Amino acid sequence: MAYKLWINGAWQDSDGGKIVDLENPATEATIAQVTEATRADVDRAVQAAHAAFYDGRWSRLTPGERSKALWKLADLMEARIEEFSRAETDSTGKPYKFISLGGDLPFAIDNLRFFAAAARDTHGSHAGEFLGGYTSMYRREPVGVVGQIAPWNYPILMAIWKIGPALASGCTVVLKPAPTTPLTTLMLAELSAEAGIPAGVLNIITGGNDAGQAIVEHPLVRMVSLTGSVNTGKKVMRTAADTLKRVHLELGGKAPFIVFDDADPAAVAEIAAFAATVNTGQDCTAATRVYVSQDKVKNVQDALVEAMRATPVGAPYDDAVKMGPLISRVQRDRVMGFVERAKSAGAKILTGGNIPPAWQQGYYFEPTVIAEANQAAEIIQSEVFGPVVTVNSFRDEAEALYYANDVAYGLAASVWTNDLGRAMRVSSALEFGTVWINDHLPLTSETPHGGFKQSGFGKDLSAEAMGDYQITKHVMIKQ
Ligand code: NAD
Repeated sequence: MAYKLWINGAWQDSDGGKIVDLENPATEATIAQVTEATRADVDRAVQAAHAAFYDGRWSRLTPGERSKALWKLADLMEARIEEFSRAETDSTGKPYKFISLGGDLPFAIDNLRFFAAAARDTHGSHAGEFLGGYTSMYRREPVGVVGQIAPWNYPILMAIWKIGPALASGCTVVLKPAPTTPLTTLMLAELSAEAGIPAGVLNIITGGNDAGQAIVEHPLVRMVSLTGSVNTGKKVMRTAADTLKRVHLELGGKAPFIVFDDADPAAVAEIAAFAATVNTGQDCTAATRVYVSQDKVKNVQDALVEAMRATPVGAPYDDAVKMGPLISRVQRDRVMGFVERAKSAGAKILTGGNIPPAWQQGYYFEPTVIAEANQAAEIIQSEVFGPVVTVNSFRDEAEALYYANDVAYGLAASVWTNDLGRAMRVSSALEFGTVWINDHLPLTSETPHGGFKQSGFGKDLSAEAMGDYQITKHVMIKQ
């Protein structure tokens, strides 16, 4: 099937864009074709979003009416959950059971329902007299046309995390999914019309980095929301400066997993292995750096190696499988490059590091544990985005904190201890947007997700995400 572009509430042909194949990373088979949008296509989508914003067909609906359409969209997704789950599995190669019931799709639907409800709570914070003879009130206004750019690791979740708060706030949207994984976002586009979201309010442009660049450059786009790598975030911020757009950046991560000496090594290792291999490690919050108190490091390391070796790797529709392939050949080459360079720099590969002998077709890679890497080494300092975890030891709490914070990233971290005072001290000192105590990974619709430092700024999920898509206006009335 060949998809067109979703502009102004209809499938539209591209103005000169190429048709490209989408590949299933588990089988290397072609699953669909999409269009690489051109600059002219991006302009058409932005103009449609601009017209839809300024005639008020969405922003001037009551919050209740906007909420109803978003809730209906969630219902429509739920009715087609199997179709969405299959398309997502075939696009990403991740285990079907982690996408369908109990996985990404139910979470995405719940996220959308959260934003449908949040749409009804978008009021300003003040009304009062702050100068004699005047009444002031604060209104919360939608930012306007928002350009949204998503990555490939959680395609439908990232699409919902972007459009949910933007549409709930009354903004109109031009969204570009990642070039390799646009299918479920395109399916969502068609459902948006059925849900009663007016034409032009949600536009979906497929294509690569040039299409993304054209969105960021467009003068009618008031804000850009990107989820992607740190380097893309830097480029987007530079480009956005020319038209002084708001930027909302959800970037990479390099999560530390800090294990103190009172934690149970076997229990901790099992969760570390899951958190390092979830989505084949292509998760911005994945556990990537395990730091263990020096008297327990050997126990945790051995248990982690065992748990990583025991991770069932294989075909996405096999119910026993917990880890599928990486997203592409390019990504696998990238991950292998990191492991090779770590080895050359003197680190020790305790398990993994290769293509699994049984899985030569598709872009599989073994769950990998690396020890004895230097804190300054690339394998500790840079995001690999594969099923690769390092293990190192620390002497005391201060050293654990130093190692954990000593990276450019600041997205997520976890601390493993039963000492409440230590858990409070360490979580307060960690420079990460999410800190888990005695777990790693869970997120909810109500709680904010976003980074410190070079992991970006602005929040996804929660009422804070709503706030990012609104501007406070002060209205002052002379009595
Ligand atoms: P990427 O940065 O290569 O691409 C992300 C998106 O940006 C794609 O749609 C791409 O086409 C677009 N893009 C690239 N260059 C652009 C430019 N100059 N202007 C505008 N758009 C441009 O990232 P990826 O490889 O698709 O995704 C993996 C990255 O995403 C990882 O670094 C991961 O940590 C990060 N991520 C972060 C979060 C979070 O919540 N912080 C969530 C998921 C993924």
